[in-house]
Parts: sequence; structure tokens; C-alpha cells
Amino acid sequence: MITLDPTTWEFAAKMDNFSGWVRKQIQAEMTKQAKPKEFKFESYCVRCNTWYKHTTEYDAKFHTCGSCGRLCDFMSTEVAQ
Ligand SMILES: [Zn+2]
Repeated sequence: MITLDPTTWEFAAKMDNFSGWVRKQIQAEMTKQAKPKEFKFESYCVRCNTWYKHTTEYDAKFHTCGSCGRLCDFMSTEVAQ
């Protein structure tokens, strides 16, 4: 299942629970990928009439348009209090 080279195999053999450790790493990775991302912020390129979605306010504020390379306008989709 797992291919190791002689150096890593030697190290892995000395680990208490290598299989368990590997499973834990993979599960952590699966959890990370399965977690739905919240695209709460948007930016908009006037020139290209294109919307971009972002997970953080910073990304939305400093996003450069993928088509024309201009800095997009920041648009928050969060409801104002
Ligand atoms: Zn653009």
C-alpha cells in the first residue's frame, strides 16, 4: 500500500504505530478537504464584468482580475448590521 525507500522504511519501522499515524494523517487531510469553504466575500471587475468569490475579506479586497490584471472592486456579501 505504501512505498518507502530504505531510509524512510528504517525510520517508519522504529515508529510505535506507523500505520495508525499514516491513517491519522490521511484522515486529517480528508477532513480538511471535505470542509466546505465559505465564500462570503466577493470582488468585481468592472472592465470584464466578472465576479470573483473569496473566503476572506483580505482576498476580496486585494484581488487582481484573472483576465485583465486590474485590481478588482471589493464587494462584501455580508448583510450590514
Ligand atoms: Zn478584469
